[in-house]
Amino acid sequence: MQYFSELFNYGLWDLLINSLIYSAVALPFFMGFWCIWKKRFQHRRIQEKQQSNSAMIKHELKYSAVTLLVFATIDVLLYVAQTNGVTKLYNQVADYGWGYFVFSVFVMILLHDAWFYFTHRLMHHPKLFKYIHKVHHQSTDPSPFAAFSFHPLEAIVEATIYVIFAFLFPVNIWALYAWQIIQMGLNVIGHTGYEIYPKGFSTHWLFKWKTPSTHHNMHHSHFSGNYGLYFTWWDRIFNTEFKDYHTKFESVQKRISLHKKAMMFLCLLAITQYLQAQTVELITSAGFGKPYIIESIEERNDLSIGYAPAFTAGIKYKPSTESKWGLILSVQYFEARAKGITKTSQIPVDGFISNTSFLLIGEKVKPLKRNANWSFIYAFGIGLSAENYVFKADTEPRKNNYLSLISYAGFSRKINDRLSIRITDGLLITDFIKGIHYLSGNWPGQSAGEDVSENLLIGINYTF
Ligand SMILES: [Zn+2]
Ligand SMILES: [Zn+2]
Repeated sequence: MQYFSELFNYGLWDLLINSLIYSAVALPFFMGFWCIWKKRFQHRRIQEKQQSNSAMIKHELKYSAVTLLVFATIDVLLYVAQTNGVTKLYNQVADYGWGYFVFSVFVMILLHDAWFYFTHRLMHHPKLFKYIHKVHHQSTDPSPFAAFSFHPLEAIVEATIYVIFAFLFPVNIWALYAWQIIQMGLNVIGHTGYEIYPKGFSTHWLFKWKTPSTHHNMHHSHFSGNYGLYFTWWDRIFNTEFKDYHTKFESVQKRISLHKKAMMFLCLLAITQYLQAQTVELITSAGFGKPYIIESIEERNDLSIGYAPAFTAGIKYKPSTESKWGLILSVQYFEARAKGITKTSQIPVDGFISNTSFLLIGEKVKPLKRNANWSFIYAFGIGLSAENYVFKADTEPRKNNYLSLISYAGFSRKINDRLSIRITDGLLITDFIKGIHYLSGNWPGQSAGEDVSENLLIGINYTF
C-alpha cells in the first residue's frame, strides 16, 4: 500500500512539473503572439487570417492536459522499471561525464526526429488517421497549445520514444529533462502560427536542415506533407516536402520585410517631425553680481563685496516652439575685488573672488496677458561652481569646487520672431550642501559657510 502511495505521489509530482514546464514554454508564446501583441505581430502570421477560435484553443488545452496525464502515467511505469534496475537510466552525471551527457541529448534529438517522422506518417494512413491523429489536426490554424494536443493513443506513441531511450542506452535523468524542454520549445515554436525565423532560413546551406515555424504550420493547413519535427531531411529523402514550402516561407518573409520598411519609414518620419518641432536659443547676458561670503549659516552677510561684473552664456532647448518650459545649459562667471575682515574668523581679506558656474536650468517664460510681447521669466537650476579666493595679495589662490543652486526671475520683451531682450535678477548659492566643498580643491575645511551672490543681468535670446 505504501508503495502505491509512493507511486501516486511520484506521478502527481511528475504531472505537476511537466505541466509547469509546458506552461512556462507555451504560455509566453501564446500570451505574446495570440493575446497582448496580436496586432503588432500580424505581419508575422503564417496564415494571414486567423481560423482558430476560443473553442479550438479549449480543445487544444483539453487534449494537452490528457497528454500530460498519459506522460505522467508512463513516467510512473518507467519509475517502477528504474527502481527494479531494468532501465539504463542513471542519476549521477559523473558516472559517464558531461561529454556523454551532452552527446546523449543530441542522440535523443536525432532519434526522436526519426521516430516522429515515421510514426507521424503512419498515423496519416487513412485507416489510422480518423482514430488517432485527427484530434491533433483539428487545429488547422494551430496555437502554441496545439503542440501537445494529442489523442491519448498518440500521446502513448509520443511517449514511447523516451521509454525506448531508457532501455536502449544510458540516459541521465537530467539529460532526459533537457531533451524534454528542447523538444517542447521547438514543438511550441512550430505550432505558434507566427514565423520567427529570419529571411533566407529555409534555403541557407546549414539552416535549411532545420524546420522553421512555416514548415509545420503548412502541415496543419495542408495535411499531406512536411511530416518532420526538428529537421527537414526525412521529408527531403522521402519526397514529402510541400512543393511550395520555400515560396510560402519567403512570402511570409516578404510581408515581414515590408512591415519592417514601413515601420522604419514611420519611425524616421516621427523623428523628423520631432526634430522640426525643437527650438534652440542662444542666451547671453551681462550685468552685475554682488557676492557675499558667509562664514557661518547663523551670521549672514559676514563679508559683503561690492558689485562686480558678471556674464552668462548658454544654450536653451525647448521641446517644441509652443512650449513654455525650456532647459538651459549655461556658464556664468563673475570676478570681484574683496577687501575687509570676516566677522567670525577675523580673516583679513585683500584680494579677489572669482566664480565660474556650470549650470543646468529649467526656465519658464510666461507671456503676459495684457501684452503678448512681454513675458514673465522664472527659473530654477543646479550646477557646479569653481571658486578662487585670494585672501591676501601675496598668498596662493584658494580653490574650491562647490555644488550650486540658482534661481532667478525677470522679464523678457520680444523684438521679433527670433530676438528678445531679457532682464533677470536672482541668486546663485554655492556650497548649499555642507561638506561638499571639502571633497575637492586645495582649501579643505577653512570655509564653514556658504557663498551667495545676487546677479542682475541684462541680455538677449536668439532663436535659431
Ligand atoms: Zn499530422
Ligand atoms: Zn502539429
